Amino acid sequence: MKQQEPAYILEQILEEVRSTDPVNVRTWFSDLTALSFSGGHLDIGCPDQTKVDYLNDHCLSVFTKAAQKITGFLVSVSFHSIHPVSADSNVFTASLNGLRLHPDYTFDNFVVGPCNRLAHASCIAVSQNPGTVYNPLFLYGSVGLGKTHLLHAVCHASRENNGNLSIRFLSCEQFVNGFISAIEQGRLADFQNQHRSVDVLIIDDIQFLREREQSQEEFFHTFNALYNNRRQIILTADCPPAQLPSLEERLISRFKWGLVARLDPPSYETRIAIVKKKAGLRGIHLPEGVAEMIAEHVQSNIREIEGALTVLYATARTVGQPITPELTRQALGIQQTAAQRTITMADIIEAVSREFDIRITDLQSKKRSQSITLPRQICMYLGRQLTRHSLEEIGGHLGGRDHSTVLHACTKIEEIFKTDEQIRLRIENLTRQLTQKQ
Ligand code: ADP
Ligand code: MG
Repeated sequence: MKQQEPAYILEQILEEVRSTDPVNVRTWFSDLTALSFSGGHLDIGCPDQTKVDYLNDHCLSVFTKAAQKITGFLVSVSFHSIHPVSADSNVFTASLNGLRLHPDYTFDNFVVGPCNRLAHASCIAVSQNPGTVYNPLFLYGSVGLGKTHLLHAVCHASRENNGNLSIRFLSCEQFVNGFISAIEQGRLADFQNQHRSVDVLIIDDIQFLREREQSQEEFFHTFNALYNNRRQIILTADCPPAQLPSLEERLISRFKWGLVARLDPPSYETRIAIVKKKAGLRGIHLPEGVAEMIAEHVQSNIREIEGALTVLYATARTVGQPITPELTRQALGIQQTAAQRTITMADIIEAVSREFDIRITDLQSKKRSQSITLPRQICMYLGRQLTRHSLEEIGGHLGGRDHSTVLHACTKIEEIFKTDEQIRLRIENLTRQLTQKQ
């Protein structure tokens, strides 16, 4: 009977899962195969171990529920890698210390733009020639800009290039906790050995080493041991080495020996490409103009792009309509995008100059007096909120400031929002004037 055929059951399960769990569905699900269905057990074959891990972590229960619904029986489901696990990849998996590589986080799925070009190129170089080109490699940037994604990509690529390479990939917290429990259990030598004998040591979010003096000391020795043996070290943080305040100076100076690469918030164009990439991975079709709307709506943290796609997809399913620009606007609460498009830096500078009674030429000058600096920062903030200009372009309109000055201004205004009601109201008022003028 067709209903009992494994291939047919899997096909139905995938159909069901696409509607019940769109967030976790990936286009590569079409590569899954039904191996067997017997004794109430369905075995599903999967291209590789990373994907098996992903399915076990994110999809086991929805697959099981779907299987039960479709067959009408109490069915259990398991996933198997159809490429037999070689001895090499066993070593590799073990060295990841329980960390599972996310199948989405590959170089292929990483969109490269001016904001992350150096970080991306250096990660590729390091995965091809660990320990020789950029050592240590230090990536920094604020949250959600792709640091962890790049670290996973280095692991994926290293595994492809050389399955024998031993890589140790941990979060800084894992390093600190591992160190503490090693001391407690009198296994410090083991701990040291584990970390000092690898080919590549990767530690994510190193800023957590702040305030952890003893762990810093241990890390310092690990660093030296690896560095002297020409082993690769890759670190990430939310700020540049020099701004890791309570980190010991000698540690910070080590970080600067290799390459320090910054990740910046992506420009509008790069964001569009990322939206399209993420939609492609999930098999979501976006009609003309929709990726642009999402890219405009989600500005700073790329993680939110995925959230926006999920909301959009869920809304479309709930109302039973295809994704359209109008539905996107409703689902994401986007207002007046057409009007926002036409606001220029000149409009903003003019409005701020009127509001604060300051000359336009002063706003565009290099003057640094407090009475001018704040309104100028407000211009930068509004430029970031209401126009599509890059940080560089906004800075260019305001006396040739560089992108970090503009970024700093935006952070500062957001801080002020929390404490200064009056300024917040004035800025909201300006925003209203500018968006309603169109
Ligand atoms: P971080 O570690 O810097 O906080 P993550 O690496 O966790 O950021 O990235 C957050 C999300 O944004 C992830 O889903 C990641 O895939 C995605 N992302 C970030 N940068 C890019 C990029 N350039 N291309 C594609 N996806 C990206
Ligand atoms: Mg991260």
